[in-house]
Amino acid sequence: MPELPEVEVTRRRIAPLLLGRTIAEVATTRPSYFFLTPPARLRRALTGRRAEALDRHGKYLVARLDDGSRFVLHLGMTGQLFSSTVTSPRLLRAAARGTLAPDAQLRFTPDRHTHLRLRFADGGPEVWMRDARKFGKALWLAPGASDARLDRLGPDALAADGGQLFVASRGRRVAVKSLLLDQAVLAGVGNIYADEALFFAGVRPTRAAGRVTRAEWERIASALRRVLLRSIETGGSSISDYLAPDGRDGAYQDERRVYDRAGAPCRRCATPIRRLVIGARSSHYCPRCQR
Ligand SMILES: [Zn+2]
Repeated sequence: MPELPEVEVTRRRIAPLLLGRTIAEVATTRPSYFFLTPPARLRRALTGRRAEALDRHGKYLVARLDDGSRFVLHLGMTGQLFSSTVTSPRLLRAAARGTLAPDAQLRFTPDRHTHLRLRFADGGPEVWMRDARKFGKALWLAPGASDARLDRLGPDALAADGGQLFVASRGRRVAVKSLLLDQAVLAGVGNIYADEALFFAGVRPTRAAGRVTRAEWERIASALRRVLLRSIETGGSSISDYLAPDGRDGAYQDERRVYDRAGAPCRRCATPIRRLVIGARSSHYCPRCQR
């Protein structure tokens, strides 16, 4: 699932394709839970508009349009936002990747999962959004309109502040790992980067959030910034369906210390990494480095 770094990499690479270009035509698939704004209304709202800024809050992308309205996208589990000129084997399902000849794997034409296609007045590359599982979201907000999904988000994880997390965690019995995944506490962190940050901070994911000390929260906040910034720098984690807008793969998955490394030796002390389930999410930690 794309987390903050992958969404930020997407933002940085899709912005040049989107900003300042007038949208001439919008094609969508049929109404589904992907469309929080019905597709017919979305097509009307976006046609003729021009994006002036592209912001990110947590895992949401928010395009500010020239009429003061906003267009919000969430990549969900398998969302892919990319240029129509991209060639990447990630655009095909895993089953198809294995059976097609290598050159055929690179060609992609919009399929039934390509829910959104923006064509521009300048005739240049289009912007497409594809989402096989449709847990992503597309939402249009009229000028001045608000949305509960955006309003309930906590501060962006890149601005994580140890003091804020300490205060938010007092009296909370949930595991520290679960608190980090709570988007109302901190926006943008998911499973990979929560596990990685807790490793760098030396804090075990199962600890009750309310028992984590202020000094430990400071370490967690700084570890979060460190892993998120490093991942953005390397282009994010290219696992599962994540696809950068220009098709280039990220490399952070090669640097992971604990996530998805159960049984492998800790890179710091060689103790085997453990995996357990916390709040229905798999968690990974070093039993020696994390207390
Ligand atoms: Zn260790």
